[in-house]
Amino acid sequence: MARLSRAIDMLKRRYDVVVVGSGYGGGVAALHLSRAGKSVAVLERGREVLTGDFPTKFPDLRNDFQVQGQTFKTGSDTALFDIRIGEDMHVVVGRGLGGGSLVNAGVTLRPDPRVFQDDIWPGQIVQDGGLDRGFARAEAWLRPSADPRAGEMTKFGVLAEAGRKVGRDIVAPRVAVSFEDTVNAAGIAQTACTRCGDCCAGCNVGAKNTVALTYLPDAARHGAELFTEVTVRHVTRSDDGSWRVHVVPTLGKGAESVIEAAIVVLAAGTLGSTEILLRSRERGLAVSDRVGKRFSANGDIIAFGYGAKTPVNSVGVGYPPRIAGMEIGASVTGQLEFRDPDRLDHELTIQEGAVPSAVAPALPVMFLPNGRLLGALQSLVSGVYKGPFASLQTYFAVSHDTASGVFRLDEDRLALAWAGASDEPCYQRLDNALRAVVESAGGDYVKNPLAGTVMGHQPATAHPLGGCAMGREAADGVVNHKSEVFDTAAGRGAGAVHDGLYVIDGSIIPRSLGVNPLFTISALSEPVTSDRQVKSVRPEFTGLAVTVTVSVTLPHSW
Ligand SMILES: Cc1cc2nc3c(=O)[nH]c(=O)nc-3n(C[C@H](O)[C@H](O)[C@H](O)COP(=O)(O)OP(=O)(O)OC[C@H]3O[C@@H](n4cnc5c(N)ncnc54)[C@H](O)[C@@H]3O)c2cc1C
Ligand code: SF4
Repeated sequence: MARLSRAIDMLKRRYDVVVVGSGYGGGVAALHLSRAGKSVAVLERGREVLTGDFPTKFPDLRNDFQVQGQTFKTGSDTALFDIRIGEDMHVVVGRGLGGGSLVNAGVTLRPDPRVFQDDIWPGQIVQDGGLDRGFARAEAWLRPSADPRAGEMTKFGVLAEAGRKVGRDIVAPRVAVSFEDTVNAAGIAQTACTRCGDCCAGCNVGAKNTVALTYLPDAARHGAELFTEVTVRHVTRSDDGSWRVHVVPTLGKGAESVIEAAIVVLAAGTLGSTEILLRSRERGLAVSDRVGKRFSANGDIIAFGYGAKTPVNSVGVGYPPRIAGMEIGASVTGQLEFRDPDRLDHELTIQEGAVPSAVAPALPVMFLPNGRLLGALQSLVSGVYKGPFASLQTYFAVSHDTASGVFRLDEDRLALAWAGASDEPCYQRLDNALRAVVESAGGDYVKNPLAGTVMGHQPATAHPLGGCAMGREAADGVVNHKSEVFDTAAGRGAGAVHDGLYVIDGSIIPRSLGVNPLFTISALSEPVTSDRQVKSVRPEFTGLAVTVTVSVTLPHSW
């Protein structure tokens, strides 16, 4: 597929709409606003990586890691992985045109309905079937499906057998992956998945249904202008009511410039949108003092089992494959669901995962500090596909936490505080369940092979949520059920909003979901009324969605 992004010198001074960030929220917003006839600019801090250009060798992958704490930063500001080392918790997010979709496993799950019955949500989001329509729209674009050959994958079989021993049946979850050659909803030809296992380093086959292959090409076809390596710092409002988006080049020390727009959609993800709103508040924007609060890690962890009785084959072979004829499966092909009809917060899901092929050379070194010297050295000699690492079990697990993390700005950088995060009850439950599964397969549970490094023993998440959580009014949220940012200026009512300022991404989700979040983020961003025969003129967000009207504004659906 041809490059979507434009040269930065084509960026104009003014658009109808500026969308900040290009993950699920940004992709959906860009698509519908450009289809509504608006002039749209999408500003993404990362770079565009085309299918075939994702890292396949360890040195390249290492260059695509940026690791930063409050006092240090290593790696490029355009690296694909943005890893934040926190005192209480670490967070990893994807960066690039397509956001987290570029490097995620694509697991596409709808949360238990009890999640949306929580009073924390404004009630409107489930009214009139709006949420159902959002999920249906997201499904039409992302086309998730379970691998029809999941049962043939070794790692699926190992988890199925372990599941039987702990009394759970394995399920093949839906993933945003094309398992046969297809032309997708954006008209892009996609090649069938080769089951190479490399989803979490980027799909070089073009089989993963990323934002970069779905929403964004459609938005570009409808006139949206996409720019990469542009970082938004904050937003302000001019006297005439226009929004001023303050941007700097991501790389180098270029001067700040300003893009004006009637509508600004912050879709920079949980970390990005929260940071932009915190910084904007410091510069005078009246927003709720809830900004930064209700951070949830979605009870999410990665864990390993070392030394299973039989091969697991959970290390990707990449594309072109390192070992001809070997199939690993998509990053996730099977999961065990631990349901609890009485206690939603006790539910958890364990998914078998795959380590991307580019990580393979580093695996023996990663496991050295854990006292597994002998096996690790053996694998250095024989390679990870034959030695003990052929029996490595890799698991992603997701559950519920209390969403008690708080972001603040510390010397202009986002900092996360969550005292007692590692004591959240979900981690003990996850440990117990994972240990039982790993040991059922005959392995030793390795909670964190990187505990001896800068990662320490703190939990880490790839599913950050919250920070700009939705609520009924400014006293309990940052945005309303329509994703409009509450305006807390003196004299404005409790439900007053900033005209034309929206947040649409994982940051608006006020609690853990208990399943991987991409489907919910996409559904909440989808236009709930786009199935009506409407043409264009005035886009209006309705329940985190765009309502497009001809001459009258359609009634809010949520
Ligand atoms: C390794 C990994 C595996 C995962 N697996 C799954 C999975 O299987 N299923 C699932 O549901 N979820 C998974 N996730 C999580 C999922 O990818 C995220 O929840 C999702 O991408 C969040 O979508 P978003 O729209 O909120 O923001 P993002 O997708 O994070 O997009 C935000 C974009 O904004 C850009 N940005 C940030 N700040 C700025 C700024 N100041 N200026 C300009 N641009 C900015 C970022 O670079 C990014 O591209 C995974 C995540 C990772 C890292
Ligand atoms: S398994 Fe390989 S081919 Fe299939 S979606 Fe993942 S990266 Fe792409």
